[in-house]
Amino acid sequence: MESNEIRSRFLKFFEARGHKIIPSSSLVPENDPSVLFTTAGMQQFKSYYTQEKNAEKDFGTKNVVSIQKCVRTVDIDEVGDDTHLTFFEMLGNFSFGGYWKKEAIQCAYEFITKELKLTIDYVSVFEGDEKTPADNESRMIWQKIDPKLVIKNHNRSDNFWGPTGEEGPCGPTTEIYINDVEIWNIVFNEFYKTKEGKYEQLKIKGVDTGMGFERLLVQVQKKNNVYKTDLFNNEKTREERVIADHIKTSLFIISDGVVPSNTGRGYVLRRLIRRAVRFSKESLEKIVERNKKIYAGVYNLDDKGEIKKEEKKFRETLERGLKEFEKGIDPFILATTYGFPVELTLELAKEKGIKINLENFNKKMAEHQKLSQTSSAGMFKGGLANHNEKTIKLHTAHHLLLAGLQAVVDKNIKQKGSNITEERLRMDFLCDHKLTDEEKKKVEDFVNNKIKSGLDVICREMPLKEAEKIGAEMEFGTKYPDVVSVYFIEDKNGNQISKEFCGGPHVKNTSELGHFKIQKEEAVSAGVRRIKAVLL
Ligand SMILES: [Zn+2]
Repeated sequence: MESNEIRSRFLKFFEARGHKIIPSSSLVPENDPSVLFTTAGMQQFKSYYTQEKNAEKDFGTKNVVSIQKCVRTVDIDEVGDDTHLTFFEMLGNFSFGGYWKKEAIQCAYEFITKELKLTIDYVSVFEGDEKTPADNESRMIWQKIDPKLVIKNHNRSDNFWGPTGEEGPCGPTTEIYINDVEIWNIVFNEFYKTKEGKYEQLKIKGVDTGMGFERLLVQVQKKNNVYKTDLFNNEKTREERVIADHIKTSLFIISDGVVPSNTGRGYVLRRLIRRAVRFSKESLEKIVERNKKIYAGVYNLDDKGEIKKEEKKFRETLERGLKEFEKGIDPFILATTYGFPVELTLELAKEKGIKINLENFNKKMAEHQKLSQTSSAGMFKGGLANHNEKTIKLHTAHHLLLAGLQAVVDKNIKQKGSNITEERLRMDFLCDHKLTDEEKKKVEDFVNNKIKSGLDVICREMPLKEAEKIGAEMEFGTKYPDVVSVYFIEDKNGNQISKEFCGGPHVKNTSELGHFKIQKEEAVSAGVRRIKAVLL
């Protein structure tokens, strides 16, 4: 089934069930300077949930359906693997005080199994905790629909949504899994969390669902990665994939009115195009045209020549930088005045056997960046952006987890990506099998044992070469400067449990962490597993 057909089936399916079809909103959120880009389908409907706007008045119904364009750049370093993308579409149906759990679950089940003829692996429901009860209603609905269906209990970090701030609407979720991959997330806005931390029943309840289109396509078209679906061109190497992804995203962003610049959205766009240029020896024009064809009849895409213009400018920068480099110009000046990437300076220097004093460069760069750092530059990449006590603890636990996986499961396990919120840590890693319950238990024991031992966490600055020599963990595909900081977790005798390239911050001693628990272990794609874990 082709992507166009799935899109139209989705919309028609819900239209036939009393939903009004609403077009995707712009990638540039209206009246919301707090976010750079639209990242979810519900964003344009926020004020219908809070009743500031009236859906019946605006749409003639309380139920709507949409396919939303979304851009997320937090996982940009992961682009090139089988799943991560910076542009994606989100299929969603929404109800603002119309139907409730029974109808939402019934519709999702029918669409997946009857329209798309996919087999559900299992579903998950919220297991309940001291704050809000288990979602037995959803469990019973699923059971009634299909008594043989596997229903898993998941905890708050997985199956409870919101609130986005200190207070606000929130509620349990139920998720559909196909081949161990989460396909559809259905959120039931059931409670209002007050400032005092109380969960009160909402008078007007809401349903908000989201299904990543590219992920769904992988399942429907029976492929093992997104680049083999009809939204891509079977890109195989990391370079080809980064170019395809970044140029697609750039084309969509420009079509919604953004132009390359040095601040905010324009800066993200500029970085995307320049990153694609660096990976590509050929002109990017072909890729722009290919994407226009892929989405013809679905979205109106026009880059108004901006990509070509930015590409030309950046290629000139690269060329000019090259000439200056050959004259022996200081790499700091090359980078700041000519915009010449330091990685290129390093590559060229290596080719020509020139030694560059990078310690000096990094120092100057650090001072320079302190002066010129903009909020948008910070927003370009995720990482441990949120430096509060909870995320810092989870970050240290993250390092112990990697060490534990290597000690218990396979010493060759490599990290592929990570994400830390206040509530949980998430780690993607390369591993050829699903962890057994015994392995999970052993990894937990390993981490908890290290927490109990009260090990010191120490940061040491060292030359990149030396850090590589001692085998410090680095993230695949990341470029590091010449002098790096390495975080060690070690006992009193100097035995190292963990050593990772890392910008920190971390706790001083592992005894501060509490109790470590793995909440979930699942597949992200072939050969890549994901663990979500918490500290209790
Ligand atoms: Zn780290």
